[in-house]
Order: sequence, then C-alpha cells, then structure tokens
Amino acid sequence: MKVGIVGGGQLGRMLGLAGVPLGMQFRYLEPAADCPASRLGEIIRTPYDDPDGLERFAQDLGFATYEFENVPVQTALWLEERVSLAPGSRALEVAQDRVREKTTLRDLGVPVQAFASIASANEIAAAVERVGLPAVLKTRRMGYDGKGQRVLRKDGDAAASVQAAWDALGRVPCILEAFVPFEAEVSQVAVRARRAGGGAHHAFWPLTQNEHRNGILWKSEAPAPCDHDGSLATAARAHVARLMDELDYVGVIAVEFFVVGGTLLANEIAPRVHNSGHWTIDGAETSQFENHLRAVTGLPLGSTAARGASIMFNLVGKLPLSSRVLAQQGAHLHLYGKGARPGRKVGHVTLTGQDAAALRQSAAELAAALPWEAEDASPRARDAHERSTAHRH
Ligand code: AMP
Repeated sequence: MKVGIVGGGQLGRMLGLAGVPLGMQFRYLEPAADCPASRLGEIIRTPYDDPDGLERFAQDLGFATYEFENVPVQTALWLEERVSLAPGSRALEVAQDRVREKTTLRDLGVPVQAFASIASANEIAAAVERVGLPAVLKTRRMGYDGKGQRVLRKDGDAAASVQAAWDALGRVPCILEAFVPFEAEVSQVAVRARRAGGGAHHAFWPLTQNEHRNGILWKSEAPAPCDHDGSLATAARAHVARLMDELDYVGVIAVEFFVVGGTLLANEIAPRVHNSGHWTIDGAETSQFENHLRAVTGLPLGSTAARGASIMFNLVGKLPLSSRVLAQQGAHLHLYGKGARPGRKVGHVTLTGQDAAALRQSAAELAAALPWEAEDASPRARDAHERSTAHRH
C-alpha cells in the first residue's frame, strides 16, 4: 500500500515511522533538499504546486495526505480528483484562514473569543469597537508558532495602536482577537474514520495541557492536570466531534483551546497530526500517527487510551546530550535528523509513567537539563525568518 504525503518534515517522518510496520510505503512531495522524511520513502523534490512534480507524486498512489496546513488548496483539489486524499481540501480552506476558522467554529456553537476581520485601514475603527483592547492582531494566513502576531495592550489610542501593528504586519488581511487571560492552554487531538457500512467512527486521545515559550510549544502533559473533574475533556470532545462531522473529516485533527473561567474557548484548528499529540507515540495504545494512517487508508482505528501519564518536551534550537536524556527513567527520545538552528524544532522527549506526581518530579529534573534556543528576537531577524519559513507550521 503506497501512501503519498505532501510535506517531508518531522510530521511526515513520524507518519512514515508509524506506517512502515503496517507494511505501508511512502512517497513525499517536498521541495527542501535534505528533509527529515528523506530516509522513509521516495522524495519528489519539487514545489508543492509544480504540475510535473504533482503528476509524478500522484502516479499509482492509492492514498494521499498532508503534514502541514499551508498546502496550496489548488494542489489539494488537483489531488482529490486523482487519489483518495484525506483530510480533504475543505479542511485546509477552513484552517488556512483564521477568520474562516473562527467563523466556522462560532457557527457550530463552539465558543470562541470576540474577533473581527481587518482587510483595509478603514475597518480598524469598527474592529476596535467590536473587540476592544487588550487584543491580539494576527495575519489571517501563514501564521504559526506565534509568528505574524502582535499583542496590543490597553493604553493610549486603541485605533492608533492597531493601525501601527497592522502596518508592521505589512497591511495584509488580519484578524483582531480579544486577548484571552487564560488559566491554561489545552488541545484535543482526535481522529475520525468512515465506517464501511456508512457513518463515522470518532476517537479522542486524553485532553492535553500545553505550555508555550517564545510562542513555540515547550511542554505537553496528558491527561491535562487542569481538568480536575473531566468536564473540560467532555466539552472538548463534543466541540471537536461537531467540527469533524461538519467537515466530513477523515484523519487526525487537533483543536487548541484556552481555558478561561473554567470553560473552553477554541483558538486554532490543525487539520493534521499535531505537536501536542507526539506523546501518543510512547504514551497511548495507538499513536496519532498510526491512527491517522489507518483512517486515511480505510483501516480500522486503534484504541486511543493512554497507557499512563505522559509529559513531552520539545527540543528547540539545540540538540541535548542523548546520554543525559536517556539516563532519565521513562524517557523516550525522538530526534528529527535536522540541523540545529535557533527556533527550530529538532526533536522531542516524552516521559511516561504510572504516577503523575512522580512523573512531574522527574520532568522537572529533565527540563532543567534540556536546551532551548529561541531565534534572534530582533524585528529584522524575525521578519527574515517569517519570510523564509512561512509555508511550514
Ligand atoms: P496561535 O498562533 O493562534 O496558536 O497563537 C500562539 C500562542 O499565542 C497561543 O498558544 C497563545 O499562547 C498565544 N495567544 C494567541 N492568541 C491569543 C489570544 N487571543 N489571547 C491570549 N493569548 C493568545
């Protein structure tokens, strides 16, 4: 069974690592020369929208999927005509545009923070009126890991500060969102598959609690410690089930939520396997990567039950000493085969155990030994980096 994956980054690599034992073979569409997935399958090294490259990619392929959400929608539409592509182009369209994303969620009855679209300078006053300050101004498209965002505090002339932030983001179409004074951030990773006789099978991994540093995910813990009575997980499952059904979704999806006042506000949809689900490789009966492939290729789904508690740390900018990480009991190291560069995700470590309190203690010890090198935060360096990496989440 040959599966095509658009994108050969670490998510494509981990999909390959999960699929090889199931007898799957992989072909990747990836423009970069030396990508993390390069040893897991054939690489078609062309831009994502190159017609010849797409022809070669789609040849004799039964199934196709993607590992990042900024795949050109035209590419997804072209693939949909020729192979079984999952998730479909509709999920991409919704997730690529923050205004469509929030509108879709709101229309489904999923709570979201107040928001307004800003496409031109004359919409700023109305957006400020609707949303107020503090707020976050984000580009509608191509944002990831906190890039393409400006936080606006509540002081001075609100419209003038939104105008200045909009100028700084390049006057591209933006969304103004109310700033959420959240107690915690959580994500729900879920999978949906079509049943042979009609209908769909939904499965949910335990709710995961996330901490970010410099706008990049630093730590994920599952089950989420902030969900004392399980009510957050119940609500998250209902919201994500509604979204998956609305999109007739097939594959793994992740929805990130803020916890505020003990309830959820949805922030972002990722129509793919997600960083906050990496712990499932070592900490769940079936990983997000394996279940994604099972859903995409029409195989039965595996159990999403946790084997205990898990805490995952991302390795950003620098590689740790493997011997130090592996000396920690219960530590599982995953390196992506990438060169280290500030701000770049080069791997992750997951700690697993049966006792959540003991696990937290050992996570604190390990965390102190892990490197973290964010990128140069000067505006010039940041703009250059945003331009060079805008396609990849
Ligand atoms: P995003 O790209 O929307 O996932 O945002 C990246 C991170 O920025 C989030 O995980 C939050 O930590 C923070 N953030 C984004 N939007 C807001 C908001 N409206 N209020 C407060 N924090 C936010």
